Amino acid sequence: MLFLLNTLKGPQENTMLQLSEIAQSFDELGLSEPLLKAVAKLGWEKPTEVQGCLIPEALAGHDVLGQARTGTGKTGAFALPILHRLGPNHAPEGVRCLVLTPTRELAAQVADDFRALAQFTEHDVAVAYGGKRLRGQAQHLKHNPAVVVGTPGRVIDLLDRHILKLDHIIVAVLDEVDRMLDIGFRDDIRKILGRIKSPHQTLFVSATIEAEINRLARQYMHNPVEIFLAPDKPMVEKLELSYVNVPRWDKRRALVHLLAQEKAQLSIVFTATRREAIRVAKYLKDKGLDAKEIHGDLMQVKREKIMKQFREGSFNVLVATDLASRGLDIDDITHIINYDVPEDPESFVHRVGRTARAGESGRAITLITPEEGRLLTQIEKLIDKEIVPMTLEGFVPSEPPERERAAAGPARPAPLTRAQRPLHDVAEGAEAVPVARTLASKFPPRRRRRL
Ligand code: AMP
Repeated sequence: MLFLLNTLKGPQENTMLQLSEIAQSFDELGLSEPLLKAVAKLGWEKPTEVQGCLIPEALAGHDVLGQARTGTGKTGAFALPILHRLGPNHAPEGVRCLVLTPTRELAAQVADDFRALAQFTEHDVAVAYGGKRLRGQAQHLKHNPAVVVGTPGRVIDLLDRHILKLDHIIVAVLDEVDRMLDIGFRDDIRKILGRIKSPHQTLFVSATIEAEINRLARQYMHNPVEIFLAPDKPMVEKLELSYVNVPRWDKRRALVHLLAQEKAQLSIVFTATRREAIRVAKYLKDKGLDAKEIHGDLMQVKREKIMKQFREGSFNVLVATDLASRGLDIDDITHIINYDVPEDPESFVHRVGRTARAGESGRAITLITPEEGRLLTQIEKLIDKEIVPMTLEGFVPSEPPERERAAAGPARPAPLTRAQRPLHDVAEGAEAVPVARTLASKFPPRRRRRL
């Protein structure tokens, strides 16, 4: 079920839309012929839920604050009505639509999606993000592309140099607003939106709608229509979610075993840090697997090259930090493996959103050390779905290394696995203490990680 909150009519008249009320075909949405042709060529048979909800509102010219995650078809949800509003022909006056994204990868991907949808129109799409030469992007902007997709830093740079002009903008889009705020782009966003003086429509898309996003919307939008997908557990319905219990020191061996057992075709292995990504990829390569790592220390050009090779299937295990989990759009990913369980349950959803995209199925497997059970429980609560245990057939755990034994002190019992753990630790004469709390108290907050 979907929830459409229409603030245009005031809160008393909020509308709850049933699935049956949402357009079931692109024809019904009244999109122009070149767009229907593109959609058909892409093999999109019917609008996704967010497309069915957002497109009519955007076509009607309303400002829209839409809750949607990557993987739900959100790019089409804003790109199609924008391209419809632009009409089929190139207009020479300048950039008409600006899309801001939090990461370079997402900007590149959104630009590609726009191009695919605009292929039967005359519209050109340019990018504006760092890590690439400014000169090339500036050159492209001279040809008045209809759409510019970029990250805030480079966009401001191009604006300050008067290379990018916003005088003719009719639509501004902020994609993954929550992520942009997380990264700390709030001042940049305000600066850019504040520079658009022409009458325009504003669309915000965000996985979560928090108070700060509402404030931003109130400031920069005119009577926005708010679209919420009911929080019925993003993206995970079609996924098989499992976990494997493994001691910390055995994780790399377990990963190799798991990849072989699963006969994984195209997998992304997520690690918590860049250093771990490098180590894990090296280990896999040493074991004869076709693996490469991607993380924030790599130059943009290198990252794009790796992504291109991965898309083309020239290697089959991508070891990535969370940086890569946003804005990756790769078809046919069969496995997501959380080598490190994410500390933040929301990251789990973003990671596994790389598979089971637009309704396909996939597998997501998480390696869990006995100490990490509470993180798994938090994730299950968020997605409201059980993550089931699985075993590594024939995997023989190795003895703990010397340093682990020394750190553990004399003969402490092995930590309980998640399945063995009691609901409460009860010391004699003491009150019951939830296990999650006792475990958490043993783990002081970690330092900020470099992703
Ligand atoms: P997005 O949420 O925009 O990242 O889209 C996720 C994936 O779904 C992309 O690979 C899109 O090409 C695909 N997609 C978007 N809309 C549809 C649709 N209506 N039918 C099938 N696939 C779609």
